[in-house]
Amino acid sequence: MELYPVTRLAAVTEATSRSGLDALLLTPGPDLRYVTGYDATPLERLTCLVVPASGEPFLVVPRLELPAAEHSPASRLGVEFVPWDETDDPYALVAARLGSVERVGVADRMWAMQSLRFRDALPGVRQELAGRVLRELRMRKSPAEVAALREAGAAIDAVHALVPGFLKPGRTEREVGRDIAAAIVDAGHATVDFVIVGSGPNGASPHHELSDRVIQAGEPVVVDIGGMMPSGYCSDSTRTYSVGEPPEEFVAYYEVLQAAQEAACAAVRPGVTCEAVDAAAREVIADSGYGEYFIHRTGHGIGLEVHEEPYIVAGNTEPLAPGFAFSVEPGIYLPGKHGARIEDIVVCTDEGVERVNNRPRDLIVV
Ligand code: ZN
Ligand code: ZN
Ligand code: ZN
Repeated sequence: MELYPVTRLAAVTEATSRSGLDALLLTPGPDLRYVTGYDATPLERLTCLVVPASGEPFLVVPRLELPAAEHSPASRLGVEFVPWDETDDPYALVAARLGSVERVGVADRMWAMQSLRFRDALPGVRQELAGRVLRELRMRKSPAEVAALREAGAAIDAVHALVPGFLKPGRTEREVGRDIAAAIVDAGHATVDFVIVGSGPNGASPHHELSDRVIQAGEPVVVDIGGMMPSGYCSDSTRTYSVGEPPEEFVAYYEVLQAAQEAACAAVRPGVTCEAVDAAAREVIADSGYGEYFIHRTGHGIGLEVHEEPYIVAGNTEPLAPGFAFSVEPGIYLPGKHGARIEDIVVCTDEGVERVNNRPRDLIVV
């Protein structure tokens, strides 16, 4: 049960040929890591795995990056490494090796400076997103990937367990955020991806990060945090806390939010569409009169990226399948006052749902 199995490359080649694309061009980022396990540093110098629909894949790599590539999991794949020297043109090199092609898929997160150089090196060749080919594979997490998400979930849960100790009236969001960031690393993450501490009115802005605002007694605080584990897989979880007794109005809608989050999680099972999961949360909130204050989609896929497919949003008719992993994170935001969000990462199983975040969801008064 390997996280980056060597058999994956064959599956990707097969999917590429089925898609009608002539090749995939994968530069450093989540697509390349998914296919090879190689966590290559994104640089202006071109590193690119070329996966032709028929023929042998090869990795074009700057000569100075060759040792890193050779020590990476990519070396297990039996793929030819093609080093290039500082004065070579690696784009021409890829073009010459590819021969005559009509359509290629470029990594979704390839830099424009590279995709445009490929356009010059491959004139008349249509570039599409490699994600079109990789999404079907990346959305269905393997048991090893689910285990990696579980490990990430447990790590961020351990950080949330410490948050009540960090939240005190008189401290700024930034001070609390600094403690949280250190705890994210201490809990085993390789990197801190984001730390949101939204106190009082800042809690009504879903992607507010940190400010020098001083947290007051009686204020709700939205804490949404996540990072990337050494495995490459990401954590993301939100809990809303109250520093002292919260306003009555807040208590009333927090209960609605908790019921909405519960309803959406309970709706998760194979065959249910992404938009139906969104609707399950939205209905509870709308029925209680807070519909206009739930201003974002219910969730997003997660894996090697914090935000990836599938998106849990109205209009997405993609049916869930076992292995799909995504957030369920409804929120209610009263502009100028306060807000609340509850977020768990869940995995669609054969019969229903598994949550990888398991901290209490009741309002935590500290
Ligand atoms: Zn978000
Ligand atoms: Zn989040
Ligand atoms: Zn999220």
